[in-house]
Order: sequence, then structure tokens, then C-alpha cells
Amino acid sequence: MEIDRNSRIIRLTEPSKLVAANDDHLDGRDPRELDPDQRAVVREDLAKVPRENSPTPRYGGLHRLAIADFENAVATAEPDFSRYRLGFNNRDLLGSIAKDLNTRFGVNIHYGYGASLEAFANDPRQIGYGFRAARTDGFHIGEKVVDKLVEPFEAPIDRRAVATFAIAHEFFHSLLRHPDVDGAGIPMPKGWRIKKYEKYRALMEIQVDYLAARYLRVLGLPLDPVMAMFQRPGEFPEGKDYPSGEIRAANVASAKEAEFRLDLFSNEIVDCLDFLESLV
Ligand SMILES: [Zn+2]
Repeated sequence: MEIDRNSRIIRLTEPSKLVAANDDHLDGRDPRELDPDQRAVVREDLAKVPRENSPTPRYGGLHRLAIADFENAVATAEPDFSRYRLGFNNRDLLGSIAKDLNTRFGVNIHYGYGASLEAFANDPRQIGYGFRAARTDGFHIGEKVVDKLVEPFEAPIDRRAVATFAIAHEFFHSLLRHPDVDGAGIPMPKGWRIKKYEKYRALMEIQVDYLAARYLRVLGLPLDPVMAMFQRPGEFPEGKDYPSGEIRAANVASAKEAEFRLDLFSNEIVDCLDFLESLV
């Protein structure tokens, strides 16, 4: 099958019916600004739009990752990472990142905290080993891991960028249903196809790194601290499931280009463009 990249880009970058239905009520506002009654109206509207792969209403978040005016994005002061304290409880800051992701993508992916990954040790659908564990129905924010990632940075905005990247990485594993793709015995999500089983796992990391980097840009956050994190010697070695830190840094850098990289989602290893478009 030939992928018509041009028509795909148009489909990905044009607001879908879903966004249009949504925008009638949003009137340019952020969904978070809606009061509960307004949200109910939007949800009702969205329920009328058939979305095969979308069990929950979405707010066109992926569309925004594809078309955002990155150059003019300005970071807000919130969440204020000058309040981040190494070794202490930062759950209000970290939780607000997870909440924002859920709001922007119109989903309710659960998240929990903790220093270890034990809670997921017996779950065959766990993913994101040694970072935080993510599952389709939830992900795990390892606070000690976040501490370790942000520690080398002093500027609050750099710390915020790195923490946001790490949480968004796990969130996107869930949103793209990677744990189901990866899970033995679990049906492949509709719109997903694996062509090279020996190579898809590392590519999934590249996919979510890329989306997380685009998300930082939507928020007006810098990518350089994330690239510096991946380039730190010995911290992100190449493994069976993970590309090298150098490759991951270069992938994050590619999110600086305006054009959305469809090639990460349709190539000789996987094709999940139909699934991706179901999220737009
Ligand atoms: Zn991962």
C-alpha cells in the first residue's frame, strides 16, 4: 500500500469534525476554562460525532501538535517550578502537568505516584521500564526518577521542561495505546500495524519522545534541556527496547521543524497513521 503523504498531512493538519463541533462551544477558549455545565454541552455534542477509536471525547490536541504556531508560543508561569524541591513532595506541580495533558487531549488517563515501579511489576501491560511505568489506562510518575532528571538543571523553566517531557512521554504511550500494541495476547488496536516485530519497540520510544517534544513547543517550553538530558554521557544507553541517547536527542531536535513528522508513524517498521488520525 502506498501512503499518500500529502493527503495524510492535510487530514492531520485540518481541524476534524470533532474539533469543529467542539470549537462551536469553545469559541476560542481553552477547554479548561469551561464550567461544568458548558463541558456537559460540549460532551453531548462530541458524542454525536462517530469516532470508532475514541471512547472518550477529545479536544483536538493532536491537531494542535501538528499545526501550532510554535514560534509565537510563550510559556506561562504555571506550573511554577521555582517551587520544585529536590527530595520533597512535588505532586502539585507534577500532577498539574498530567492534568493539563488530559484536558488538552480530552481524555482521562489515570496517573499515580511513587518511588518504585513495584506496583506494575506483575502487570504484563507495563511499559516505560526504569523511567515511569505507563499503561493504557494509566501511568506512573516515579518521583525519584523525576528528581534525578531535573537535578542537573537550575533554571525553573528548564526543570519544568524536563519534568513535562518525562510525564508527557508516558502519557503519549498511553494515548497511542502502546501497551496494547506491545502486550502479548491483547488484540492490536484498530488502525495499528506492525511490519517488523524486531524493531517496533524502540520506534515507540521515538514516537512518544517526538510528541512530547511537540507538546513542549505548544507550551512554549525549551527543547534544549531535554536534548542535554539525553546527551549526558552514560545516562541513556542503547538497549533492546531503547534507542541511544544521541538518537533520542536528535529526534527531539527534529521537533523544531515546522512540519509534523508523519514518517515516524508510517514506515517500514510500523503503520499507525489510521490510529493517529483517529485521535486528531
Ligand atoms: Zn517510554
